[in-house]
Amino acid sequence: MYKFKYHKPTSLEEGINLFKEKEFPKYLSGGMTLIPSMKQLLSSPTDLIDIQDIKELKGIYESENKIIIGALTTHNEVAHSSIIKKNIKGLSYLASKIADNAVRNSGTIGGSICNADPAADYPAALLSLHATINTNIREILAKDFFIDMFETKLEDSEIVKSVTFPIKKKSFYLKFSSQASKYAIVGMFGSFDGDRVSVSITGAANKAFSLEEINNQSPNQLKVYDFDKLEFNEISFNSDIHASAEYRSSLIKNMLPNLINNIF
Ligand SMILES: Cc1cc2nc3c(=O)[nH]c(=O)nc-3n(C[C@H](O)[C@H](O)[C@H](O)COP(=O)(O)OP(=O)(O)OC[C@H]3O[C@@H](n4cnc5c(N)ncnc54)[C@H](O)[C@@H]3O)c2cc1C
Repeated sequence: MYKFKYHKPTSLEEGINLFKEKEFPKYLSGGMTLIPSMKQLLSSPTDLIDIQDIKELKGIYESENKIIIGALTTHNEVAHSSIIKKNIKGLSYLASKIADNAVRNSGTIGGSICNADPAADYPAALLSLHATINTNIREILAKDFFIDMFETKLEDSEIVKSVTFPIKKKSFYLKFSSQASKYAIVGMFGSFDGDRVSVSITGAANKAFSLEEINNQSPNQLKVYDFDKLEFNEISFNSDIHASAEYRSSLIKNMLPNLINNIF
């Protein structure tokens, strides 16, 4: 590993000021993605700003029909939280299916969404649940946050503080994953607001997307829907060592009935 400087601020302001002063800094959260990238020289920051001691980034809270999850919340904390299990069951289930126990104990929801890996699980949930990403300077809707593969709306020193999710008692996550890493080859999150269903897909394209062709249908319409007729005209599917574009699109059609049945 090459040389870099390590900082551990205890407040948001200190962390952001440090970031602005340095040449090529990076925030460090759980380190599950950033540290391996540095070891392989895919990322070479001059300064690592470890945000683990910033209290404002921690905690899971329930407030006015919403759940607020601090950026530093680990995947295992999301998986085991009684607040999340009670209010957005599909989200805790999704977190329990990320990687392995070691990664789930360190990796954070903030780190995962900022990394914007096209095969990450959380983006599908954020889109389906119409979540809001709260940063030090603004609120960003999930549909505007993910721009492209490994690219988000965040500006240079901007830091994600938390994610706000509307409570949705009916939700489910279904994933066909790589056996080695558990990253999604196709992952789909479905939620129901009492009237309409909202489904979003991850792993299949350069970024997670909402399945507009079936969103806003009622449960009764979806129970008899012919998913084979989906055309995905707007979507450019990924083809890689894990699966071809055709395989991914076929997986989506085959997994959807199972997802819909499990939401209710
Ligand atoms: C073996 C393995 C298997 C995995 N399998 C899966 C899987 O099945 N599904 C899945 O979804 N993920 C998977 N992951 C990724 C894992 O979920 C990581 O936790 C996640 O990608 C990064 O989170 P982190 O907290 O470790 O972030 P870090 O690695 O610390 O940071 C990642 C990036 O986000 C930035 N960042 C972090 N926090 C903030 C913040 N609050 N504000 C602004 N920028 C920030 C950092 O600067 C960095 O650029 C896997 C990882 C490994 C190593």
